[in-house]
Amino acid sequence: MEKREELYSGKAKSVFKTDDPDRFVLSFRDDTSAFDGLKVEQLARKGMVNNKFNAFIMEKLQAAGIPTHFEALLNDTESLVKRLDMIPVECVVRNISAGSLVKRLGVEEGLELNPPTFELFLKNDALHDPMVNESLAQSFGWATAEQLAKMKALTFEVNTVLKKLFLDAGILLVDYKLEFGVFSDGQVYLGDEFSPDGCRLWDKDTREKLDKDRFRKGLGNVVEAYEEVGRRLGMQFD
Ligand code: UDP
Repeated sequence: MEKREELYSGKAKSVFKTDDPDRFVLSFRDDTSAFDGLKVEQLARKGMVNNKFNAFIMEKLQAAGIPTHFEALLNDTESLVKRLDMIPVECVVRNISAGSLVKRLGVEEGLELNPPTFELFLKNDALHDPMVNESLAQSFGWATAEQLAKMKALTFEVNTVLKKLFLDAGILLVDYKLEFGVFSDGQVYLGDEFSPDGCRLWDKDTREKLDKDRFRKGLGNVVEAYEEVGRRLGMQFD
């Protein structure tokens, strides 16, 4: 596999073409952003930590039968993935109330949500990722009814696998965001990344935040917390 030109640079990752039209290289950078790109900082080692964290989780999901774009870890900060046509709708599941839900509904943080909630948000920073629904997604052609059903089912399957994985390490999976895309075989695959940048993780006993809320709230020790979670799950960073 030969890495070719950069195709796209997002807020925390860059995407490179390869000599295979169906494969991309995902490059995890140290850039960390919040509030739709308003707050941006470089956090040393974060690219490496998230690349390895994502590889570990994607392999667990793959082993549980969830189709993901992840193919191989290439080096400290890069992974080989399937090229997907991304569906511009983010899927969010919440097991415990936090973040935008708390603001939007005026509820307390930390409430157990049973059953877990499922929300869709349009991926659009300029509009601050507005909440949408399946009707809007179909009418605007972002996804078909079949694709939406698949995305929802896969998002809940991920919850079953990861809630247990984290709980066994003494960590609560509070909420998370997933993105999906369509591969050349026409099927829906989990894309993007799963790392503490896109989920909320609390220590089970102390409820200490071990995710990107440390960055959003200026709590410090952001990458240290990500590594601590990884180590508790059995990851090795170097
Ligand atoms: N999330 C994300 N990217 C986004 C929006 C949300 O990764 O553009 C993640 C976020 O880290 C959290 C979950 O999705 O784990 C739910 O986020 P929420 O709706 O509470 O919004 P936020 O508080 O992040 O603005």
